[in-house]
Amino acid sequence: MKIQSIRGFNDVLPADSALWQYLFDTARSLFEAYAYREVRIPVVESTALFKRAVGEVTDVVEKEMYAFEDRGGEHVALRPEFTAGLVRAGIEHGLFHNQQQRLWCAGPVFRYERPQAGRYRQFHQLDVEAYGIPGPDVDVEMIAMTARLWKALGFQNLRLELNSLGGPDTRSRYRAALIEFLQQHESSLDEDSKKRLLTNPLRVLDSKVPTTQAIVKDAPSILDFLDPESAAHLDGLRQGLTDLGIEHHVNPRLVRGLDYYTKGVFEWITTELGAQGTICAGGRYDGLVEQLGGSPTPAVGWAAGVERLILLLQKAQTAALPAEADVYICRFGAQGERLGLAVAEQVRDLLGPKARVALNAGGGKPAAQFKRADKSGARVALVIGDDEAAAGVVQVKFLREDRPQATVTRSELASALSGLFPSKHA
Ligand code: ATP
Ligand code: MG
Repeated sequence: MKIQSIRGFNDVLPADSALWQYLFDTARSLFEAYAYREVRIPVVESTALFKRAVGEVTDVVEKEMYAFEDRGGEHVALRPEFTAGLVRAGIEHGLFHNQQQRLWCAGPVFRYERPQAGRYRQFHQLDVEAYGIPGPDVDVEMIAMTARLWKALGFQNLRLELNSLGGPDTRSRYRAALIEFLQQHESSLDEDSKKRLLTNPLRVLDSKVPTTQAIVKDAPSILDFLDPESAAHLDGLRQGLTDLGIEHHVNPRLVRGLDYYTKGVFEWITTELGAQGTICAGGRYDGLVEQLGGSPTPAVGWAAGVERLILLLQKAQTAALPAEADVYICRFGAQGERLGLAVAEQVRDLLGPKARVALNAGGGKPAAQFKRADKSGARVALVIGDDEAAAGVVQVKFLREDRPQATVTRSELASALSGLFPSKHA
């Protein structure tokens, strides 16, 4: 039997990993620039956590969770998102009590969905959360951060949509009105939406079934039901975004796939990825920490889908990706090979860890080695044969520019290479 990867689970090969590294490096420095700190949490948590946090009547919990019994009989699940685990960790380690926390996480998450472009069973999220701050100032900061990330990645034409899901009072009044409306159209709803009509009617607004989408277009707007505190929060959020020049659109049908959201929610949408157009989504979830057993703690956060960002990066081609190597060491003959190995280490010392130094290994005729050097994208090849080894010198060959080859001693290598890779040390 041929063993292959599981459906919906992907490998990231060297041709793409530079793009992944570029994305993660860019995101990480941005999060740090906003004074957010990284937390790493387990991939597996108890199933009960996600049921309680995400909500029993959600796609994620009902249909998409990788949940199983472990060998000790515990009910556990692969994390389908980060927020639940992060809140669990924060409560467990006392991070929330009378404190503000600005945190981020990144890594794989798992959902049993139908795989298609931009939708996989293992995918990755960048996740950013702030605790202990009622907003809307920090909500504005969060969105400004995403806007800055898109700018850094060279994305254009993204649309920011906002809505408010109100507090508990808004929710129960709106729920009643929505149920009344949906009941009038019950026979035309899809089966899932019929089932959710009474258990979780807001989810019907998020249905991906076109006939249901056509019906909910005329549903009552939650904005007509907002409690004063949520209305003020939404106004403040919009004002803050306007002050920062961040264009946004209110969409009263916008709900989130996870039940814990309250007040302001948002999505960043692109038209370039077909049905998988949401690249980042988030909002406020003031009730979740308490719901999971902590003290009442306001919270807000967002998650971006890494694979969708990678697809956009591939389309935009704005990322300046490094070549496989900057310097390629060609070496010939027994003495040349010995010296070449030492020179490679010397060059790594000289240029520092950011320069990519590739050593030709496994021999090869000059033509073959020069071909590899060229393919590596290196700017410079250092060439060392037995003659060079005997004379204690190295040939410096410029692969990308019209410059004469130079013969230098090992002690002259530093000056021969200086200035060639200035950006690396910036
Ligand atoms: P969708 O409506 O596309 O199913 P969602 O509302 O379920 O998304 P969230 O739970 O908000 O998604 O997750 C945050 C982000 O993670 C999404 O905006 C999207 O970019 C990405 N994402 C969600 N599900 C997947 C998946 N199966 N494969 C790849 N990326 C995904
Ligand atoms: Mg989903």
